Amino acid sequence: MSSSICGKLPEQPATHRCQVGNVPLGGKSPVVVQAMTNTDTADAAATANQCAELHRAGSELVRVTVNTPEAAAAVPEIRNRLERMNCSVPLIGDFHYNGHRLLAEYPECAQALAKYRINPGNVGFGKKKDEQFAAMIEFACRHEKPVRIGVNWGSLDQSVLARLMDENRRRPLPKENSDIMREAMIASALESAEHAEALGLPGKHIILSCKVSSAPDLIAIYRELAARSRYALHLGLTEAGMGSKGIVASTAALAVLLHQGIGDTLRVSLTPEPGASRAEEVIVAQEILQSLNLRAFTPQVVACPGCGRTASTFFQELAQAVQNHLRARMPEWKNQYPGVEHMRVAVMGCVVNGPGESKHANIGISLPGTGEAPSAPIYEDGEKTVTLKGETIIAEFLHIIEHYVARKFAKKVA
Ligand code: SF4
Repeated sequence: MSSSICGKLPEQPATHRCQVGNVPLGGKSPVVVQAMTNTDTADAAATANQCAELHRAGSELVRVTVNTPEAAAAVPEIRNRLERMNCSVPLIGDFHYNGHRLLAEYPECAQALAKYRINPGNVGFGKKKDEQFAAMIEFACRHEKPVRIGVNWGSLDQSVLARLMDENRRRPLPKENSDIMREAMIASALESAEHAEALGLPGKHIILSCKVSSAPDLIAIYRELAARSRYALHLGLTEAGMGSKGIVASTAALAVLLHQGIGDTLRVSLTPEPGASRAEEVIVAQEILQSLNLRAFTPQVVACPGCGRTASTFFQELAQAVQNHLRARMPEWKNQYPGVEHMRVAVMGCVVNGPGESKHANIGISLPGTGEAPSAPIYEDGEKTVTLKGETIIAEFLHIIEHYVARKFAKKVA
């Protein structure tokens, strides 16, 4: 439950809890981070490697496109390759148009996946829509897999939209088209979920999402979904974009919902910069959750922005070296040093806020600003312990951090 300076936010009733492979999702479980590959799924080696990379970065579930017979045939091989890499990350199959056929023709794919994503707008048209949707739900029931009913405004079920538009035209005071679009997305998700339950899929095996690319629309839609159902909710701003635009738009939308207790799992849909790692979307999702104190994944670096008092670019180099070091060490630290993910490390540029912020952190360094004596005091748990000088400050500070972590977070022997 979150609180704000304006008072307590209303408690959200718990959603249904389900299990996706070895990952609990929904109910009071921690919000789960997921990501999606951008490899050709038919290329089992490339896809398995990217799944493993995303999992190493912190993705707890990974979704892969299952769009062709070759992709469906590759899924069991991807699962096997991951097991050989000691990577147990559950795989989610993303189906559009032909999922009913692929699940029927590739039962080993249906079994190897931990969850199916079905888009009700892309499951078929006319009479075939219900048949094909029912076929997919039947496979989910048979293989005991949860399903995400994932509505996207780019592929919204046009029959639902047309029905609600007709109803709206008959109203004495018709609503705005944008309101009807939002309602159509919610209706498509909820009606599909009811249909799935009527076909025998338990409500706790249903996860809903309604993705749009506008932050205010996303917030309004998910508030409504949370108020009208107890299904677990997958959050994501679709087509968020590249770089800072994608990060800020996703954060603006998801933070509001998460702070209100809405959302059981999330994906940040960033378009990677050319050559950049796909894992960036995982790091952004983790940073959103950690900034809201909902989860802790990695020690946080508290660094000032620097200003006219910052003596050189050395301050930026140190902040970057510390951040990279903490992330690189986490895979080992998290097994060895429980609780280290809550650690805060301050890297500050001068005496104005440096000593104060460093004392608030677990460990901090206050570099000399312009005109200050060329020495950098270190603070550990609020106490000044040592002062560093000279060319080797970065290496020495990283060494001090290593010692601090080993001393402070070593597993207690009973
Ligand atoms: S701590 Fe010093 S260097 Fe950093 S922003 Fe503040 S005044 Fe500038």
